[in-house]
Amino acid sequence: MNKTKMIATIGPSSKEENTIREIIKAGADVIRINMSHASTDFARDIILKTRKISNELKTEVGIMIDTRGPEIRIGNLANGVVKLVKGNKIRIISNVIVGDQNMISITVPAIVNHINVGDRILLNDGSVELKVVANDNETVICDILNDGFITSNCSLNVPDASFNIKFLSNYDKDTIRFASEMEVDFLALSLVNSHLDVLDVNDLLIELNDSHIQIISKIENKSAIDNIKEIIKMSDGIMISRGDLGIEIEVEKIPSLQKKISRLTKEQEKIAIVATEMLASMQNSPTPTRAEVSDVANAVIDGTDAVMLSSETAIGNYPVETVSTMNRIIDAIEKEMDYNDILLDIKRTDIEDISKAISYSCVDCANRVNAKAIVCSTMSGQTAKDISNFRPSSTVIAISPDVKVVRSLVLNYGILPLFVPMVSSTDEMVNLSLVSASKVIELNTKDKVIIVGSFPLSDVKYTNFMKIEEIK
Ligand code: PGA
Ligand code: MN
Repeated sequence: MNKTKMIATIGPSSKEENTIREIIKAGADVIRINMSHASTDFARDIILKTRKISNELKTEVGIMIDTRGPEIRIGNLANGVVKLVKGNKIRIISNVIVGDQNMISITVPAIVNHINVGDRILLNDGSVELKVVANDNETVICDILNDGFITSNCSLNVPDASFNIKFLSNYDKDTIRFASEMEVDFLALSLVNSHLDVLDVNDLLIELNDSHIQIISKIENKSAIDNIKEIIKMSDGIMISRGDLGIEIEVEKIPSLQKKISRLTKEQEKIAIVATEMLASMQNSPTPTRAEVSDVANAVIDGTDAVMLSSETAIGNYPVETVSTMNRIIDAIEKEMDYNDILLDIKRTDIEDISKAISYSCVDCANRVNAKAIVCSTMSGQTAKDISNFRPSSTVIAISPDVKVVRSLVLNYGILPLFVPMVSSTDEMVNLSLVSASKVIELNTKDKVIIVGSFPLSDVKYTNFMKIEEIK
């Protein structure tokens, strides 16, 4: 089993039950549906298929839903796609029309008032650049700076401007209600600007009485970068969304930002996800480029919890091959990692909390005795997360009688979450830990397993003991 987790986005080319099954068997830990593109009917269908497959394969698979966010898109185009030609002009208008090469509409008409002459406008993920030459507050006239294609509802970015669009649209509120109803595990928030946006979503989740869903803030614009520490603090995890980030910010700045955000996220002990174009060429080819292989491996080396596939699996021609390629890359690089060095690098001298002290010690101990697994009995999932954050060489088997807790751990580095029956004593728990471990990993004579939990089970609500078992 790989320690670095993998998220696969489902779309038209992977929506069939069989393809999802193959994607999960090839190593995907979380299935993602992006509501910028999908309908709730599509999402419901994928969630139900995923749950069925997960039961059938007896493996925990998480579900992630992305909101659309306060994004700006163009309207529909007559034939779905239009070629724009350098040197020509195009008008962006606030009325709803079916667009063509001369005129397009926009999903948030109010922003027309805030676009200035001289602003750059990027269409279709930056594939066509425009420069604004006139604006009478109803029509924005632009020069087309390069040849390129735009498609119906493609993205429109104005990198130099910031618009005051309400973070939670009605569409996104409906998405969040839907995600909560479906007991989705992760809600990825598109285009977060500050921690206040995350607070808005938190308020809605409190209203919905949802304490399960974890918030992943997608970092994809300048203001999110400016407010990164506060955003991390308010979120359960961070997605480094290199797609949009590369449009809003010079692409050459992305690698250092990726490393910085990843480090800051881990400092706050939150989930770090690296996303977009990791194996982009595999959308049309059964093999990756050498540079892509290095990109995935480097994200693993940087200690990210999860790597993500988007178009590759959603609309690509080789969804299953892409997942198994990513799986092989992760496996190969993880075999080369020196976990003693990683623990030394984490250098924690500030731990006072009892559970965290045990977590640190059990990782240190597991590395020293080369334990096959650390089995952690967890009520809230926190001890398992603490152990994972010390990046042990052994697999962390997190056992819990709460299915939601089990599913909440699928994105954390190195954790293999397992649903188990409730036990009433520590003796039973130690026994159950060994039995559970032997079900999911191969255990031979003299193998060591580290068990952590609470003692006595009925009175203590935090992790306070560690035991090393040698298999007889
Ligand atoms: P998206 O976000 O897949 O929703 O576009 C990720 C990114 O922008 O990189
Ligand atoms: Mn994005």
